[in-house]
Amino acid sequence: MNKPRKIHKYIIAGGGTAGWMAAAMLAKTMGKEIDLTLIESDDIGTVGVGEATIPPLVRFNQFLGVNEAEFMRETGATFKLGINFENWKNIGEDYFHSFGHTGKDHWTSGFQHFWLAGKARGVANRFDDYCLEVAAAFKNKFAQLPDNALNYAYHLDSSRYAKFLRKIAEDNGANRQEGRIDHVALDPTNGNIKALKLESGEILEADFFFDCTGFRSILMGQALHVGYDDWTHFLPCDSAVAVQTKSVGPAIPYTRAIAHDAGWQWRIPLQHRAGNGLVYCGRYLSKDEALNRLKSNIEGEIISEPNFIRFQTGARRKQWEKNCVTLGLSAGFMEPLESTSIHLIQRSIMRFMRMMPQNQISDADIKEFNEQTFEDMDKIRDFLILHYCVTERQDSEFWRYCAAMDIPDSVQQKIKLFKDTGRVFRKNEELFAENSWIQVMMGQGIIPEAYHPIADKMTDDELTRFLRKIQDNITQTVSKLPQHSDYVRQYCGTKDI
Ligand SMILES: Cc1cc2nc3c(=O)[nH]c(=O)nc-3n(C[C@H](O)[C@H](O)[C@H](O)COP(=O)(O)OP(=O)(O)OC[C@H]3O[C@@H](n4cnc5c(N)ncnc54)[C@H](O)[C@@H]3O)c2cc1C
Repeated sequence: MNKPRKIHKYIIAGGGTAGWMAAAMLAKTMGKEIDLTLIESDDIGTVGVGEATIPPLVRFNQFLGVNEAEFMRETGATFKLGINFENWKNIGEDYFHSFGHTGKDHWTSGFQHFWLAGKARGVANRFDDYCLEVAAAFKNKFAQLPDNALNYAYHLDSSRYAKFLRKIAEDNGANRQEGRIDHVALDPTNGNIKALKLESGEILEADFFFDCTGFRSILMGQALHVGYDDWTHFLPCDSAVAVQTKSVGPAIPYTRAIAHDAGWQWRIPLQHRAGNGLVYCGRYLSKDEALNRLKSNIEGEIISEPNFIRFQTGARRKQWEKNCVTLGLSAGFMEPLESTSIHLIQRSIMRFMRMMPQNQISDADIKEFNEQTFEDMDKIRDFLILHYCVTERQDSEFWRYCAAMDIPDSVQQKIKLFKDTGRVFRKNEELFAENSWIQVMMGQGIIPEAYHPIADKMTDDELTRFLRKIQDNITQTVSKLPQHSDYVRQYCGTKDI
């Protein structure tokens, strides 16, 4: 029989979305090769929000061997094709950031160059009209098409998702321990985490730990003293209030992000209810004002107590330190505007699975893990900043701050390059690809001053036909799609829908 490896015992501290995602993936992938325990405290509970996701979660669930219809039924999920940004550029002006692709590219130049040429010659319609996901979203239509022709993610009930993942984790050998961690014991010889002591007095030792304790960051922040980079000067929202409401009408296949004078409001349609929340900057709006604002802009009867949450946008300075990896809110938080938190949890889990230590932890692994994770976080941060900094709104102190704030050079360069040339380049494995940046920049009113000369190779007739064909195909495809709510009901409807 093989000798047990030195790194064999794993503890996940915290049972929110981060903890159970990690537990499910570790248990499913490694099974009995590891000894896995998750500790969570029912008294403390979870943050209780996080309902909008992005397409890579589809793959995460596939890796877990999840039956999609069952997962959607269990979590009351609906499909999401993107986000409609309302009042961000100016009050009364909207744009859509879809998960799809717009138009058709040439290898030298993206579709936007041909669209810009078409605009200049008066033969192009709105940029959005060449994106299947946007057209389907606005008609409330949806179906799963061959070759993933319609890119989607989910709106889901995150506490139900955690329960769903818990079953996968436990079925694959993970143990759950209820209890409150009140002390983290370090090994004086090397500074590694040795054990977690629970309030009950019980001591749990392990070789490797995951800090999934949410904003408290008990292991990484409190015990290992890993600091936090504050990004509030770029992403000034620091508070949220969330409530659930009864559904009003059929669920739409997209998230709504509605800007207000000190932040923005989300509306996320699930099968059995809707999630709503106001994200705001506490400098410009009080708690009471925020709740009143949310309540007065909400559809449907409120069915939960308001959940107030304070946060600091930023990132923990190390994501892997000693024998501990941090995931979820303990690792950092960039606000929920583009639904990237659950995705970052997923990325770090997958990254860890690829760098799983055998008998000892390599400093090179730690360095690589940290570099790759920061690359992910920095790029997402830049994309979020974009939504705020290019606003034309001047109607409140909050928006005047956003329009005037200093932004990272990397964002400045992306905006300038697009403005001057119409070009966007995706760097490395950056999450948001060219089309995402283009949709948001155009939506916020940045129209390039030039386009690639290859677009002028096309005659007016050729360009008109090229653009019309794309639009006709989209119109035809959308006309055959069912209504989103009918598709959900038939594919994965819950009893409550
Ligand atoms: C306002 C808001 C909106 C959001 N919306 C989205 C969204 O739309 N999409 C998205 O992807 N993400 C969103 N997020 C982020 C998302 O909610 C989190 O990334 C996700 O829920 C993971 O949280 P977590 O598991 O890290 O923390 P938590 O849910 O806070 O879980 C922490 C766990 O640690 C346990 N714990 C803490 N201290 C102890 C202790 N001493 N002993 C034992 N256990 C302990 C708790 O009991 C709990 O189980 C949002 C976040 C906020 C704040």
